Amino acid sequence: MKNVAIIGAGISGLALANKIGHIANVTIFEKSRGFGGRVATRRMDDFSFDHGAQFFKVRDPDFKEYIKPMIEEGIIDIWRARFVEIEKDKVISSRLWGDDPANYIGIPSMSSIGKFMSQSLNIKLSEQIAKIEKHDIWELFNEEGVFQGKYDWVISTIPPVQCMQLFPNIREIYSDIEKHEMSACFSLMLAFDEDLNLDFDAALVKGTDISWISCNSSKQSRGKKYTILAHSTNKWASEYINHDRDWVKGYLCKELSKIIKKDISEATYTGLQGWRYANAKKQNGQKFFIDKEQNIALCGDWFIQGRIESAYISGSQLGNELTNELA
Ligand SMILES: Cc1cc2nc3c(=O)[nH]c(=O)nc-3n(C[C@H](O)[C@H](O)[C@H](O)COP(=O)(O)OP(=O)(O)OC[C@H]3O[C@@H](n4cnc5c(N)ncnc54)[C@H](O)[C@@H]3O)c2cc1C
Repeated sequence: MKNVAIIGAGISGLALANKIGHIANVTIFEKSRGFGGRVATRRMDDFSFDHGAQFFKVRDPDFKEYIKPMIEEGIIDIWRARFVEIEKDKVISSRLWGDDPANYIGIPSMSSIGKFMSQSLNIKLSEQIAKIEKHDIWELFNEEGVFQGKYDWVISTIPPVQCMQLFPNIREIYSDIEKHEMSACFSLMLAFDEDLNLDFDAALVKGTDISWISCNSSKQSRGKKYTILAHSTNKWASEYINHDRDWVKGYLCKELSKIIKKDISEATYTGLQGWRYANAKKQNGQKFFIDKEQNIALCGDWFIQGRIESAYISGSQLGNELTNELA
């Protein structure tokens, strides 16, 4: 069997590994401590925040089929949220999210999805790949320069800018990589002992520097505290991603308070996560890249759109293509 290295254990990397795991020796390298990438959860003692992806939709028939076992095992469920649209600080529409189309979430957290997908895969966590070299075959090295093995194929699932830093020659192989842009996002996380009694569970916000507010604790099994999660707009975050984080937190708290018209100074926990590469605009081109002479491939949501489903499609379709190469 051929040896394949996948860089990144986000949804695209895991979907890919699930497709080719039975026909190749697959090793996944993941720089963080957990699986799932941007489908992430910040855990406290008795509460948690889905501070990356909030929920997901399923339109692709293959993805629909893929998540069935997760639904059956209770890893995925529908979020029947009271949803509103807000213009500045006014609610302009409201409705209850139902079962069709469903908005799915992981149970008890979004990170349960990556955990489920990573079962029986060979994943090296907390292992950041810092150098890739091609000799007779590919050689990988971590941040300390420690050799991480030789591979027939190397597949990157990481955002394009990081991919170009890791592997500068990629521009010569796939020149379009420079055209793929990703934007930033801040996640503001607040926990309270008392219920704030908001009259929504999920809100799409327009006309402010905050684009999304959810009552995270309205999702099933999210712990004991009342928790609120707000996302900045991608535009605002891309401008302020290098600013002082306390300043960003303070600014977003003020914005949030204005929108929901509540005093949030009683929060018992206030956290902030800055995502430098959070979102990718909708693309209409190829869903992955593969070079069958160099034995290198790329996949990730950024080929399609910044969505969980897009990450799955990119990874699994690359997996289908690779099946012929690896068999
Ligand atoms: C704030 C936010 C909100 C979102 N909301 C939604 C939503 O509501 N619905 C939705 O469908 N989607 C949402 N998304 C988008 C969704 O999370 C992504 O589309 C999807 O998770 C991308 O998966 P991926 O595998 O392509 O990339 P990633 O999840 O980014 O996976 C790449 C992985 O590579 C790892 N990595 C990077 N560099 C290295 C290296 N050198 N060595 C080893 N590992 C490395 C990273 O740690 C990461 O785990 C949101 C994203 C963010 C950030």
